[in-house]
Amino acid sequence: MTIGILAIQGSVIEHKHMLQQLNVKVKDVRLPSNLEGIDGLIIPGGESTTMSKLMKRYKLSDELKRLIQNGLPVWGTCAGAILLAKKVTGQNPPPTLEMMDIEVKRNGYGRQLYSFEKELRIKNEELKIENFNGMFIRAPKIKPLAEENVTVLAEIDSEPVMLKQNNMLVTSFHPELTDEPSVHQYFIDMCN
Ligand code: GLN
Repeated sequence: MTIGILAIQGSVIEHKHMLQQLNVKVKDVRLPSNLEGIDGLIIPGGESTTMSKLMKRYKLSDELKRLIQNGLPVWGTCAGAILLAKKVTGQNPPPTLEMMDIEVKRNGYGRQLYSFEKELRIKNEELKIENFNGMFIRAPKIKPLAEENVTVLAEIDSEPVMLKQNNMLVTSFHPELTDEPSVHQYFIDMCN
């Protein structure tokens, strides 16, 4: 199995290391041709405005949308979640792929909590762990737009931080910056 990582900006190397530890082949995706032969794609955290611009410049957006519509598993962490959302609020919302029925507020945890670590509670048994040390870096707040289409898999203080809709997964935190591989393993299982 090969998992692609959108490698135009952000926490690419950290995701790569985690996947390699789990014995998965990794492919950098920068151009539409790089999307060939991948079994899933991670859109990492970073700066959603920059990533949105570069995705457009490299003509990735249309092909990526087509593949996701056809069932390619995709996981957006943080800025990656913003790029998958149908609706973005907050400062300067960037153009997105408009794929997932979620509303995302950029930097939604506010200034005083720009970056923080917090134990989060995983509600889903498939993840095989109950608590996870969530790393939040200028994280967006995410909520379902259509409750019936989106499952909340984890939350902190009743705020959804991990959500799934069919082949699409988003997290507002960064498992790639921890030693805990269970969220990566969950995504690998989605790609299998
Ligand atoms: N605040 C960033 C944005 O809005 C996301 C931060 C992150 O990915 N860690 O693009």
